[in-house]
Amino acid sequence: MARTFFVGGNFKMNGSKESLTQIVDTLNKADLPANVEVVIAPPAPYIPLVVSENTQKTVEVSAQNVFDKASGAYTGEISPQQLKDLGATWTLTGHSERRTIIKESDEFVADKTKFALDSGIKVILCIGETLEERKAGVTIEVCARQLDAVSKIVSDWTNIVVAYEPVWAIGTGLAATPEDAQDTHKDIRAHLTKTIGAEQAEKVRILYGGSVNGKNAPEFRDKADVDGFLVGGASLKPEFIDIIRSRL
Ligand code: PGA
Repeated sequence: MARTFFVGGNFKMNGSKESLTQIVDTLNKADLPANVEVVIAPPAPYIPLVVSENTQKTVEVSAQNVFDKASGAYTGEISPQQLKDLGATWTLTGHSERRTIIKESDEFVADKTKFALDSGIKVILCIGETLEERKAGVTIEVCARQLDAVSKIVSDWTNIVVAYEPVWAIGTGLAATPEDAQDTHKDIRAHLTKTIGAEQAEKVRILYGGSVNGKNAPEFRDKADVDGFLVGGASLKPEFIDIIRSRL
């Protein structure tokens, strides 16, 4: 079945009012295909700026993280209700930088995913193995464990997009080969077939992330289970538009 091509831009902790206005302006001026879903994730304080500057109908705005409560004494956290109030419609959860640096557990990532979805915020759920895990041959076991924490408490995956991001490929310039990405995406979809059912597994978009750029993005075009990309570094550059247009 045809799954709508999806490109996410994760700006991480980068940008200023000036540079982010510039990035959105470049996107606004671009001729973006109507059949590609684009989601950009600026640092949270800049969400209102990016929402107000964006004029592209196919571009939505995401947070990079969210908390699993609506309000209260949770210093430094941001709720999905607040994201909605600011005009964001998506959030990332489980990015490897949060899993490793901030030490977020699979269960916490799952709780945040569920609460965001229940609150009407769509989720890009990030999963992926470290270099040690890949060398040990446990890539799919790691991805399955990260997915299972979510499927245990979330039955409707309509508003989840999975981003497979091998940790060793993130920010290293060393992207997975299209063949390796396809193999893992296929394994991920096969696993999801067992846990959330064939119908949902067939519909869920699985993005590849890790050193995607304007040059290598077209190389993934004939990979049946690669439904788009989650882009870090290159989402801050004009080549992000080439990535969005890479399936034309
Ligand atoms: P990168 O980051 O494209 O800079 O490798 C990807 C990500 O972390 O989402």
